[in-house]
Amino acid sequence: MTKEKTYKIVEMYETIQGEGFWSGHSIFIIRFKGCNVWTGKESDRHKAKAMCGLWCDTNFVDTKKEKNGGTYTLDELEEYVLTNVSPERTPIILLTGGEPMLQVDAELITSFIDMDFRVHIETNGSQSVEEVLKVINENPPFMISTVWVTVSPKPPLPLHKSLFDLPPFALELKCVFDKQMDLHAYDDLECYARYIQPVEIDGKTNLQQCIDFVMNNGNRFALTTQAHKVWKIE
Ligand code: SF4
Repeated sequence: MTKEKTYKIVEMYETIQGEGFWSGHSIFIIRFKGCNVWTGKESDRHKAKAMCGLWCDTNFVDTKKEKNGGTYTLDELEEYVLTNVSPERTPIILLTGGEPMLQVDAELITSFIDMDFRVHIETNGSQSVEEVLKVINENPPFMISTVWVTVSPKPPLPLHKSLFDLPPFALELKCVFDKQMDLHAYDDLECYARYIQPVEIDGKTNLQQCIDFVMNNGNRFALTTQAHKVWKIE
C-alpha cells in the first residue's frame, strides 16, 4: 500500500503581499518547510549552495503550531482552507518557503483553483516547475494571475529549464540584488514584470545601489521593497 502524500508546512496566515507586482493585495500564505540552498541551521550557513544563505532570515525549518504549521494530507489542507479562508476576502493563496517547488504539485494547485482562489508561487527558480506547467496546459485559457510564479533567482544556482516554458503572463522576475548578481543573466527569461529588490544584511540595505540601477537601465527593472516592513505587518 502506498503512503498518502503529505505536505510539511511551517505556517499559514492571512496578510498583505508586500513585494513585487501584487504588492498591496490580501493573500493567504502557506509557507512550506525546507529549502535546497541550505539546512536553515546557523552552523550550516557557510555550506549554503547560493549567496542567499548568507543573509536568508526566513524560518523554513521550525513548525509554528500556533500559526497552523504541521503535516497535512491534501484532504486536510483543503479542509483547513475551506473552513478558514474565503476567496472573496483573500483571493490569492501564496505558496512560499523555503523552496515550495520541493513539495508543491499539480493536484494541490488545482484544488485551490477549484475553490476559486488564485495560486501564486514564490520560487528560487532552481527547481522544476513542470507541475505548474501541467496545471496551465490542462486548464487553458487562464486569466492573468490565476496561476502566477515569482522567480527570485539565487546565484550561482542556475534557473531550471522548465521555467522558460512558462507563459510570460504567468511569470514575474524578482531579483534580490546582492553583489554576486548579474541582472543581465536573466535577459532570456520572458516575463510579465521584472523587479529589483534591495538585500538586507544586518539591518542595512543597498537601496541606493538598486535606485541607481533602475535609473540607469531604462524601464527594464522596476524597484520593489519589502513594504510589509514599513506597514509593520508580517
Ligand atoms: S532560497 Fe530563499 S528560503 Fe532558501 S535560503 Fe535562499 S533566501 Fe532563504
